[in-house]
Amino acid sequence: MSTTPAAVDTWFVEHLALEDDALRRARERARGAGLPDIAVAPAHGALLALLARLAGARRVLEVGTLGGYSTIWLARAVGPGGLVTTLEIDPHHAEVARSCVDAAGIGDRVEILLGPALESLPTVAGPVDLVFVDADKQNNAAYVRAALPLARPGTVVVVDNVVRDGKVADPAEESAVVRGVREVVDLVAADPRLEAATALQTVGAKGWDGFLVALVAQS
Ligand code: SAM
Repeated sequence: MSTTPAAVDTWFVEHLALEDDALRRARERARGAGLPDIAVAPAHGALLALLARLAGARRVLEVGTLGGYSTIWLARAVGPGGLVTTLEIDPHHAEVARSCVDAAGIGDRVEILLGPALESLPTVAGPVDLVFVDADKQNNAAYVRAALPLARPGTVVVVDNVVRDGKVADPAEESAVVRGVREVVDLVAADPRLEAATALQTVGAKGWDGFLVALVAQS
């Protein structure tokens, strides 16, 4: 067989028409502005939007904006009148994200808070229906901890990049990033406010990685 996970990703992007012009332009605008190519893949943006819609999300908290690519998926999912609050430390990233979400026609549903997310988080008003954590991985657990007071029963929590080419399960791997992943997995496993957690491994254009997904408990 001559296909690869990246080719299969491309096949699904084409056959499910996952990216429209606005999303493609956002990706190109971010690349043109010199941002790193580390936004979620289209299929994963679509999964985030699907989770948000399944949860009936109207309020989303995103930690880690970059150029606003995942933000556009989430802002579309919350619909008119919904709100995505997204936290970004880098002023250039925040500026590019603002131009991308405005160009995508959903800028009125997006609030970008500039600064270290751990400082912005306490200023965010709850309740939020979905939390997407995708920033500096060392702080994964701190972000989930800080977001939990903003959650309601049924809030969906998604943490990106928890597999990292399998390093999460490699006992020889002790980098700060991988420790940050393990810490948030331990937190989700131990905190009674979180239930129905699972990890979804993914392969594709972005290599071998995955999402941690959990639900805030009903009581
Ligand atoms: N969610 C974006 C997407 O899929 O389109 C990708 C986000 S990118 C992986 C991570 C972002 O988190 C970068 O833009 C980076 O500047 C930001 N970041 C890193 N450390 C941060 C911090 N302490 N507070 C807020 N943002 C941070």
